[in-house]
Amino acid sequence: MDIVVRPKILVVGAGFAGVECVRRLERKLGPDEADLALVTPFSYQLYLPLLPQVASGVLTPQSIAVSLRRSRKYRTRIIPGGAIGVDVKAKVCVVRKITGEVVNERYDQIVLAPGSVTRTFDIPGLADNARGMKTLAEAAYIRDHVISQLDIADASQDEAERASRLQFVVVGGGYAGTETAACLQRLTHNAIKRYPRLDPKQIKWHLIDIAPKLMPELGDKLGRSALDIMRRRGVDVSLGVSIDKAGPEEVTFTDGRVIPTRTLIWTAGVAASPLIATLGAETVKGRLAVTSEMCLPGHDGVFALGDAAAVPDEAKDVEGAVCPPTAQHAMRQGKHVADNVIASLRGQRMTPYIHKDLGLVVDLGGLDAVSKPLGVELRGVPALIAARGYHWSALRTNVAKARVATNWVLNSLAGDDFVRTGFQARTPATLRDFEYTNAYLTPEQIRKRVEAG
Ligand SMILES: Cc1cc2nc3c(=O)[nH]c(=O)nc-3n(C[C@H](O)[C@H](O)[C@H](O)COP(=O)(O)OP(=O)(O)OC[C@H]3O[C@@H](n4cnc5c(N)ncnc54)[C@H](O)[C@@H]3O)c2cc1C
Repeated sequence: MDIVVRPKILVVGAGFAGVECVRRLERKLGPDEADLALVTPFSYQLYLPLLPQVASGVLTPQSIAVSLRRSRKYRTRIIPGGAIGVDVKAKVCVVRKITGEVVNERYDQIVLAPGSVTRTFDIPGLADNARGMKTLAEAAYIRDHVISQLDIADASQDEAERASRLQFVVVGGGYAGTETAACLQRLTHNAIKRYPRLDPKQIKWHLIDIAPKLMPELGDKLGRSALDIMRRRGVDVSLGVSIDKAGPEEVTFTDGRVIPTRTLIWTAGVAASPLIATLGAETVKGRLAVTSEMCLPGHDGVFALGDAAAVPDEAKDVEGAVCPPTAQHAMRQGKHVADNVIASLRGQRMTPYIHKDLGLVVDLGGLDAVSKPLGVELRGVPALIAARGYHWSALRTNVAKARVATNWVLNSLAGDDFVRTGFQARTPATLRDFEYTNAYLTPEQIRKRVEAG
């Protein structure tokens, strides 16, 4: 009897890039052409751009956790765990399953889409005292944390404690940080009505960024509109400022101010997943250097994309330009890389990825928004419709669309109950714990594992 050995395609990461890739492979490849496997720690694709709305309670966590198993063509073997190293010479990916067991997964083609982690700097106290806005657990944790600050301040007789619990600091004036600060400020603004013992004037949100402008991608006029909205709502926006040191009860800014606070949210950019460093290959600012076909030069069958890879931006006429780390690119790269994987299997020509940026949408909570779809500058309700319409249509399943739409309607009619769930009250709360950044192997450890079989 002949044994047919099908090539094995291993996709790492079930985010925007990985899921689009897997779905396309499932649709376009016959079951006899290849075996598909997906390594992912979670059984959902997280719709990250709506994370600030989970933190602020506009959406429930489940509504943006889009099921990986709800698809008619679904036939991929899902390996529950995280890739902790890749040996591209031996074509082995080392995976730590959610049980803790470490296994070697052999592959013929690998698609690396593990996304990014919060980028941090060597600032004293940052690693222990800051929280990010990159995972569902972080968003849920921050929501509980902010509500608990109101609860504790309300019960406290100590003025100094009240003051520190009612100040909140967000670092990062990109869209993630600005949306986070704006949405959470709305949360505390709306919640204060339920805390008659608290003085609303004591609640203070700070948004700081070392850059001279808020969301420079929006352009000068729209960026200024966003700044005006934030300041009108009482958010203290400081540009050209960062953090000198962070402690459990206060944060020192680089301009010398010391802010008493128990809440430091760090959204100052992203860095490629630590998985990329385990390859020992060339990188561009930490992202894997790939060709415009999203291939790793010199290694057949290795593809990388999304936030983890520096994919040349062929739509820009600028030498060395790479695609920005956005969902907009990651989704399209996911589809495109699947076509290139199929082309390489069938001995056809691969094509370069080219996509002209469609712009940016920024939901600041309530009726406040600024958006720039296709270069058109929008503010207020039209910008909000563009933002919500874009995200809603980008959600992958109809069930997720229904959940998000229902949440939006419910929240606008009934508001928030500001319930602190307490599910995560005892869980570790540092960036490292939420993003598992210390789980990875060194190239040397990977080589030894692979040699050991
Ligand atoms: C708060 C926020 C707001 C944003 N708003 C926008 C926006 O409005 N518009 C926009 O275009 N972009 C936005 N982005 C950026 C966008 O979300 C990212 O660029 C996009 O998610 C990148 O897609 P990806 O597939 O590369 O990574 P991700 O979507 O992050 O997916 C990576 C996946 O890999 C998994 N993973 C990680 N490590 C491993 C491992 N070792 N092994 C296996 N799996 C692993 C992760 O769990 C995750 O599921 C926002 C990001 C944030 C944080």
